[in-house]
Amino acid sequence: MDVTQRFILWVRTCCGSCRTSSSDSELKSDKKDIVVIRKTNPVEAPNRPLPPLPLKDIYVALYDYTARTVDDLSVRAGDRLVALNKSGEWWFVRAISGISANKEGFVPANYVAQEESIYAEPWYFPDTKRADAEKMLLSEGNETGAFLIRQCESQKGDLSLSVLDNGKVKHYKVRKLDNGRCYVSIAINFTTLKELVQYYSKNNYGLCVQLMEPCKKLQAPQTHGLSYNTVDHWEISRSSIQLLRKLGAGQFGEVYEGLWNNTTPVAVKTLKCGTMDANDFLREAQIMKKLRHPKLIQLYAVCSLDEPIYIITELMKNGSLLEYLQKDKGKELCFSDQVEMAAQIAAGMAYLEQQNYIHRDLAARNVLVGENNICKVADFGLARVFKLDNENVYEAKEGTKFPVKWTAPEAINANKFSIKSDIWSFGILLYEIITFGQMPYPTMTNYQVIQKLSTGYRMPCPANCPDILYNIMLDCWKENEVDRPTFETLQWKLEDYFELDLNSYADTNRIP
Ligand code: ATP
Repeated sequence: MDVTQRFILWVRTCCGSCRTSSSDSELKSDKKDIVVIRKTNPVEAPNRPLPPLPLKDIYVALYDYTARTVDDLSVRAGDRLVALNKSGEWWFVRAISGISANKEGFVPANYVAQEESIYAEPWYFPDTKRADAEKMLLSEGNETGAFLIRQCESQKGDLSLSVLDNGKVKHYKVRKLDNGRCYVSIAINFTTLKELVQYYSKNNYGLCVQLMEPCKKLQAPQTHGLSYNTVDHWEISRSSIQLLRKLGAGQFGEVYEGLWNNTTPVAVKTLKCGTMDANDFLREAQIMKKLRHPKLIQLYAVCSLDEPIYIITELMKNGSLLEYLQKDKGKELCFSDQVEMAAQIAAGMAYLEQQNYIHRDLAARNVLVGENNICKVADFGLARVFKLDNENVYEAKEGTKFPVKWTAPEAINANKFSIKSDIWSFGILLYEIITFGQMPYPTMTNYQVIQKLSTGYRMPCPANCPDILYNIMLDCWKENEVDRPTFETLQWKLEDYFELDLNSYADTNRIP
C-alpha cells in the first residue's frame, strides 16, 4: 500500500480504549505523548521522519505469532521489536529484525518480553510448577542437559533450576546471598542468573549434567481475545466466522470447529433458538469474558444480534474430558496423569472461587482437553442463563435437562447454588476421572440418587482408587456445605498428591 494512502493517527499512549475504538474519528489528538497508529496492513516504515524510537522499549518476541488481522504483525520467537504503544493486552510495535523487520502492527503483549530482562531469556519459565517443569522437560524435543529456571512453589521468591538427565528430571535450588548474588552451590556465586547459566553451560561441576539447550516451550499462551480490537468490541460479525466441522452437540445447541477471519481456529457454540434470553446471556457473558485463567476456556467473542447466538471460544484439540476418558486416549492415562488433570481443574475452579463466581454445571462433559492432557473448565456461568426445565428435575432422564447426579442436595432441593455446590460436583468429577468416564451411581436412577443421598448414602470407593483420593471425594460430598473443602485446598492437595519433598532437590555438595 502506498505510503500516502496510510492513515496516521496520533493517539495518547496512556489510553487503551481509544486504541480499540472502532471509529477512527473518535481517536483524540494529543501532542505530548505520542505514538503512531497506522490503520493499514503492516507495511514498511515510511521514509519520511517518524518520532524517534524509544530505544529503552526494545522487546523480544518469546513465541511465534502469525498475524490474524491486517493490523497485526507476524513475528518469530527472537525477533526484536520496539514498543510504540503498550496500553492494554495488545501492543503496537515496530519490528526491527526478523520476518517483519521495519513493519508495524499489533502483537499480543504476553508474547513479548523486554530485551535483556530475565523474562526474555529462553530458559526462564517463571510461572511453571515443578510438575509442569518435569512434564515439559520430559516431552519430545528435549535431550539430556535441557533445562529451565522457574519460581519455586514451596518458597516464594526462590528459584529452582530443573534439568533433564537421561530421562529423569533433577531440581536444584537457586539461592541468593544477602548481597543479591545467586548460587546453586555455596562454593561459587554469580551476579546474575545469566552468568550462572553461562557457567553451568560450560562446566557441570556438581550438577548432574552440563546445561545444554533451554527446555522447548510446549505451546504459546492464549492471546487475550482474538485480536486487539475484539478485546472490548467483542460482538463480531457473523460473516467473519466460517463453520468448518461439527464437533458435537449438547442440550442447548451444536459446537463447530470454525475459522475466524480466515486465520484463526476457534470453537463456535451455536445455541438453539429460545434456549436463553439474549439479554440475560449478554449480561452473563460480560462477566465471563473478564474471567481469564490458563485453566478456563476463554470466551473470545459473540454473535448475539441474531439467532442462533454464536459463542466463540478457544478450540481444544481433544474435545470433552468425558469422551477423552472413555476413548482410546483415556486408556493411555496413568494414575498420576489422572491426578494431574484433576489438579488442573481444581486450579481453574480455585480461580472462579477467588473471583466469587459459580460454575453450576461442573462435570467431565464440561471440561475440555488440549494437547499434553491440558484440561480447561468450560461452560462456566452458562447454567445460570439456560432456561432449565425445573419442573422435570426429578423425572429427568439421565444426562438430560438437569444434571441431578452432579448436583449437591441443597442445590437440587432448595436451588441453593454456591461454590460449595460446585465442590460437590467436583467430587463427582473426580469419580468420573478415576473410573475413566463411568456414569456416577451407575445402577441408580436420578430419583433413587436423591432419595439415597438424604439417608447419608455416598458412592462407594471405585475400584483401583486409593483411599487418599476417595477421602477427597467424601470431603466434597459432606452434607453440610461449610464442611466441604475449598477449591484452593483441593488444588494444593492434588498438586502435592505425590508429595512435594524438599529433600528431593538434588545435591550440589560435590561442587569444588
Ligand atoms: P451440555 O451443553 O448439554 O451440558 P455438552 O457440554 O457436552 O453438553 P456442548 O458444550 O454443547 O455440550 O459441547 C458438545 C461437544 O462439543 C463437547 O462434548 C465437545 O466434544 C465439543 N466441544 C465443545 N466445546 C469445544 C471446544 N471449545 N473445543 C473443542 N471441542 C468442543
